[in-house]
Amino acid sequence: MINNITHQITDLIAKLKGKQNIWILSGAGISAPSGIPTYRDHSGQWKAGNPIQHNDFIQQEASRQRYWARSMVGFPTTHLASPNAAHQAITQLQQHGLLSQITTQNVDRLHSAAGAEDVIDLHGRLDQVVCLSCKIVSKREDYQPRLIKLNPSLTEYAAKLLPDGDAEVDDFDMSQIRIPPCESCGGVIMPDVVFFGGTVPKPRVETAFRTLEKADCLLVVGSSLTVYSGFRFPRWANKNKIPVYAINQGEMRGSELFDLILEDSCEKALPKITNELTAI
Ligand SMILES: [Zn+2]
Repeated sequence: MINNITHQITDLIAKLKGKQNIWILSGAGISAPSGIPTYRDHSGQWKAGNPIQHNDFIQQEASRQRYWARSMVGFPTTHLASPNAAHQAITQLQQHGLLSQITTQNVDRLHSAAGAEDVIDLHGRLDQVVCLSCKIVSKREDYQPRLIKLNPSLTEYAAKLLPDGDAEVDDFDMSQIRIPPCESCGGVIMPDVVFFGGTVPKPRVETAFRTLEKADCLLVVGSSLTVYSGFRFPRWANKNKIPVYAINQGEMRGSELFDLILEDSCEKALPKITNELTAI
């Protein structure tokens, strides 16, 4: 297995060498070593309950209560997460002028925290909230004290949970949760992210495709591509004779589209690959 991985890394380096318009698509696997929980495990099964659905959030107060209760408790973990060696390696590739675009399915902003520029946050960003009525965007960190202030009993309950006790929040009586409204218009506040069942804004997808058209290869990093919004890019690339590679552990959707899949952790493999590609 180890020999196999070494062989795959050498192979991938050879394929990437000389390319100056590498188009990166990253997913949850790149942020897992930073402590960001992933929705699916290596075999593609759901972990710890289904994530929230877009229509439920829009239509049901109870769904919003459940979301904000979990979000309030989980916020410190995601807010304090730092980029890891894989994010840093990708930034290094960008600074060496080897990338045409970084597109991420993650909402954690860790590419940007690692110094990457012009990142397309396909599914939005968790560091912002948006009002569904007046569309005003504000910082998620400014919303946290408002949530805490309105929900002292949850604050007390959460203090007793372990840092990874996300699922146990569900034992709390959610009907007690009070959700702070928009400060400008009193409207419903939503995280600035695309939930499952929601739609990625069209201009964002168009920008991504515009850059992909000029790419000389596509590299998937830490994604099983189970979600269509990400899957369409490798599928389009493959159709248009742009080679598609991946660094990902576990099963992948559409593996026949790939010219090479390196089954290693992004955090281990990417720094090695970057060192080779940026060596003078
Ligand atoms: Zn508003």
